[in-house]
This record gives sequence, C-alpha cells and structure tokens, in this order.
Amino acid sequence: MELAQSPMSDRQRSYRAQYRERIAGWYNGWLHVLVIYAIGAAALYIYVSNIADVVWWEWLAIPLVFLACNFFEWFLHRHVMHRPLRFPGLRAIYTRHTLMHHQFFTDSEMRFADSHDWRVTFFPPYALVTFILMSIPGALVAAWLLSPNVGWLVMCTTTSMYMIYEFMHFCCHVEENAFVRWCPLVNTNRRHHTAHHDQSLMMERNMNLTFPIADWLMGTSDLDRGLIGTLFNGYGTRHIRKDMRKTSRTPGRKTASGGKVAGATA
Ligand SMILES: [Zn+2]
Ligand SMILES: [Zn+2]
Repeated sequence: MELAQSPMSDRQRSYRAQYRERIAGWYNGWLHVLVIYAIGAAALYIYVSNIADVVWWEWLAIPLVFLACNFFEWFLHRHVMHRPLRFPGLRAIYTRHTLMHHQFFTDSEMRFADSHDWRVTFFPPYALVTFILMSIPGALVAAWLLSPNVGWLVMCTTTSMYMIYEFMHFCCHVEENAFVRWCPLVNTNRRHHTAHHDQSLMMERNMNLTFPIADWLMGTSDLDRGLIGTLFNGYGTRHIRKDMRKTSRTPGRKTASGGKVAGATA
C-alpha cells in the first residue's frame, strides 16, 4: 500500500515499492514494536527490582548516563550509520540506514504508508538485546567502583534511552497530528529529523534522534541558537542557519494546492 497523495519523487516511490516487496509476508509492525517494548519492559522490571535505598548521589547516574547516551547516539549516527566502514556488522548498519532508511524516507515524504513500513524505522529486536549486553560491562564497573544501585541505574538509563530513541524516531515518520505538532521535544525532534532526511544535509546535520544536545554542542545542528532554544524549538524555522548548502524543510507545511510540503524559509 502506498500513500494516496504524496509529493515524493518517482525514484522514492519506486524504491518504496521495491523495499516492500522484499519484506517477509509474515512481518507484522505491531508485533515488532510489541517485542521491542516487551524486552525493554522486562529488562527494566529486573533492574528496578534490584534497586533499594538509593542515596542522593546515586541518582546522579541517570543524568550522566543520559548525556553519555546522547553522545553515543550522535556518534553512532554520524560515524557508523552514515559511513561505509569495512567491518561487516557496522557496514550492515550503514546499508540499513543510509541506503535503505534514507531512500525510503526523504524530506519530501517522511510518512509511513501503514504499519508494514515500520520495518524501515524500528531496529530489529536483537539490536536492543545487543545494546543491553553492551551496557553490562560499564554497569558492572560502576557497581564495583561506586555501588550496586549505580550499576542498576546505569542499566535503567541505557535501556530507557533506547526505547525513547525508537519512540522519537517513530514520531518523526508518522502522519502529522496534534501530538507530534504540539508535544514539546517531540515536535523539535520531528523538524530536526525531517531536515536530516534532506539528502544534502544528512551526512553532516542533525545527528541526534532524541534530543539535539550533542548536535548543539558539536555544532552539527541546523539551528543557530542556544541549548534551551534548540531543545524547545518545535517546528520553528526562524533560527535555521543561513550558511548551509540547502535550507531544510519543515514537517506539516502544506501549500494551498494541498499535499505538497513547502520549503521552509530561514
Ligand atoms: Zn528517519
Ligand atoms: Zn541518518
């Protein structure tokens, strides 16, 4: 199934049709999401049931690990998902992201046609398991050096960030609605990520998928404004940098003729 009305190019349209033909017939988007969140919820349940009598400084693990995850997300997106590295596993991540996800969705058409298309956005469930396994050594070191509570809080934060990542990215590719338009942070990320899907910006701008903190700090945001303004920018286009090769588009903008997404003005 394809969207009835869309400003996408013929190239994007045929790529989407081709990709859908390759998806296994038994694929179910709802089941895919359910499996991811069931694994995440079960893991969180285990972590939380091991936490007891947290003292004030132990809570600091949450903001610190949150920031570390934000940088990890930025780094992975910029240096692995958009770089054809020789290492086979990492090369597969590049193929799935740059060659598939970015062709399936462009800034002129960011929407899923139906739940089958979720396959192109949510990672396979084993990615979450891998991410949990990757977090364990750091959590063990924190538990050993500081306290067991800190170790469990590290796990809680990394797994939660993964689930937030999947949710935020999903919100970028759904049909425009009141929630994604008005919910703070979600609306910011939706504009931020739509601009990233512009093929002339994707290699260098807007690498965060949750909150554009690392983009702000590393100078890779397409906005030229302070951290708080960047975080709560929403769909605003007033602060878009003027020194980019091309100006990004904004979600939800329709011309009077209907359907067509208008280019944003800086
Ligand atoms: Zn995307
Ligand atoms: Zn990308």
